[in-house]
Amino acid sequence: MTQVATATRELILANLEAVRGRIREACRRAGRSPDEVELLLVTKTVPPERIRVAIEAGERLVGENKAQEALAKYAELKDLPAEWHFIGHLQTNKVKDVLTFTSMIQSVDRIRLVEKLDQHLQRLGRSLDILIQVNTSYEESKFGVAPEETLAFVRQVARYDTLNIKGLMTIGKLSADPEDARRCFRLLRQLRDRIAEEGIPRVRMDILSMGMSGDLEVAIEEGSTMVRVGTAVFGPRPQPDSHYWSERAKAR
Ligand SMILES: *Cc1c(COP(=O)(O)O)cnc(C)c1O
Repeated sequence: MTQVATATRELILANLEAVRGRIREACRRAGRSPDEVELLLVTKTVPPERIRVAIEAGERLVGENKAQEALAKYAELKDLPAEWHFIGHLQTNKVKDVLTFTSMIQSVDRIRLVEKLDQHLQRLGRSLDILIQVNTSYEESKFGVAPEETLAFVRQVARYDTLNIKGLMTIGKLSADPEDARRCFRLLRQLRDRIAEEGIPRVRMDILSMGMSGDLEVAIEEGSTMVRVGTAVFGPRPQPDSHYWSERAKAR
């Protein structure tokens, strides 16, 4: 495997320390224990040798957005004790591939996908942990279930006993004003509380996956239990995020 230059390695390690520090500080300010907030490294476009640096530095959770890219990297890194989450828009024809490496799909947002997952999981004789992705910003460009449809969707998905619902995921509104993202995160937490109250059999609401490089502090203040961080650890990406998040990205 390609070696990582010493300077690159040191930069990743320093960035990682800085992000861990931000999480600790945000938890302290919010009166929460840092143990309540997990860090998921978002590794889209990041070459495997750089991901290896972060995992060897003690990180455990990795999130990828695209099936083919993730498969190739997993093949190079499967010797490491990491958990691979899928966090991107998942096309039904990629389900089979994604199930070969993922331990959690965070982006479940439509019943067609649920049916496909169930078919494959039944065949494999196993179950899978999932999060329901909610479009809390109401932006057309983002995937996810509409907030007002989330409870009904959770009830529907709960009928498939191959799928273990563990919580909710969202992408906050990207804006110069972090208060815009706060509204999204607060809404996700309120939905979580509301759904948890229903006591739907087999449905857990322990995980609130929200907060990224630019807004993780706000997300932690609003109750995040898992922040998903890419650029703050690995540096800027060549592609804009619309490449991963927009409806048009489906065609690629
Ligand atoms: C890219 C991405 C992130 C991380 O974004 P950064 O701003 O680089 O931290 C988090 N969640 C999802 C779903 C993403 O696609």
